[in-house]
Amino acid sequence: MVTNLQLIDELFLHARKKAFKEPYKCLFKECNANSIKSHLLQKNGVLSSIAVKKHVVTMYYPDFTKVDEDKIEFKKTGINNAMTYPLFCSTHDTDLFSSIEKDKIDYNDYKSQLLFSYRGLCSEIRKKQRNVRIYERLLDSPRMNILSPMHYTAILLQQISGFKQGISDMLRYKRLMENEIGGDKVQNFTFFYYKYPYIGICASAIFSPVDIITSAKATQLEPLNNVLINIIPDKSSIHIVIGYHKKYNDTWIVDYAKSWNDLSALQLQYMLTDLIAARIETWCLSPDVYEKISSKNLKQFKKYWSENVQNLSPSQRINFNLFAEV
Ligand SMILES: [Zn+2]
Repeated sequence: MVTNLQLIDELFLHARKKAFKEPYKCLFKECNANSIKSHLLQKNGVLSSIAVKKHVVTMYYPDFTKVDEDKIEFKKTGINNAMTYPLFCSTHDTDLFSSIEKDKIDYNDYKSQLLFSYRGLCSEIRKKQRNVRIYERLLDSPRMNILSPMHYTAILLQQISGFKQGISDMLRYKRLMENEIGGDKVQNFTFFYYKYPYIGICASAIFSPVDIITSAKATQLEPLNNVLINIIPDKSSIHIVIGYHKKYNDTWIVDYAKSWNDLSALQLQYMLTDLIAARIETWCLSPDVYEKISSKNLKQFKKYWSENVQNLSPSQRINFNLFAEV
C-alpha cells in the first residue's frame, strides 16, 4: 500500500523533474535571453583538477517529507553536469567570467573575487527560484488534494514565502555586484584570500548565519548578513576566497572569514567538514577523497546533515573530521 508520505515524495520528485526542465532567463541584469547550463566553477581547470575519469562526487537527497540519513546519497557525476545550473545566456556566461577562466587567475584581485562570488550568489538565487517552482507545482498538483490538503498547503506556502524572502534579499546583493562589474568604482565587499596545499574539494556558495532574525531584518528593511565563500582547487593548491558586504556583516562573520587564515592541515579539514556539513550545499568532492572517507565518518556526516538541515545557527559545532586519515 502506498502511504500518504510516499505519495508526497513521489509527487515531489515529479514536480522537481518538471521544474528542472523549465526554461529560466539569464540572471545578468535585465537580460531576457534564456540561460544555458552554466558551470558554477570552470569545467576544465577546476573540476577537472579533482575529477577521476571525468567524474566528481556530489551529494543528493531525494525526499521531501522527512529527512532520513539513510537516503542521503553520494553520487558520481560527470563533470559536464556537476555544479551546473541554468544561470546565464551563452554570451554572458562567456563574456562576464573570461578573466576568471584563464590558466593564471589572480585570486588577490578584487574583481576576480567579486566574479567568483557573483556566480555563487546567482546559483543560490536560481536554486531558490527553482525551489519555488517545485513547490508551486506541488500546490497545483490535483493529486495533492487527495491528501490532508490543509496541512501540506500550509507547509508549502510557508516554504515558498521563505524562499521568496531569501531571493529578494540576494537580489539586492546581485544588483550591487552588477554595478561593480559594470564599472562602478565603489567596492561594497570585503574579501579574504587564503591558499593551502591541494585537497580534492570545490565549493561556491553564500550562507546567512542567523540565530534569531532581528525585527528590522525580518521585515526586510535590511538584507540579512551573508557570507560568500569559494573553494577553488587547481592541481597543486586550493584557493579560498571568502567575503561579506561591508555594511551587512557582524562579529561572527568577520571572525569566521579571518578564521580560515594560517590553519594546520588538521584544522583545515575540520573547517571544510564544518562548511559542507553545516553551512552550505553547493560543493563536490574528488572521488579519491570520497573513497578515503571512513564509513564511521560518512555515517556521522549523514546523521549530522539530516538532523541539522534547517539549522542556520552560527554557533552549531561539528564534532568529527570527514577528511581524517584512517
Ligand atoms: Zn544574458
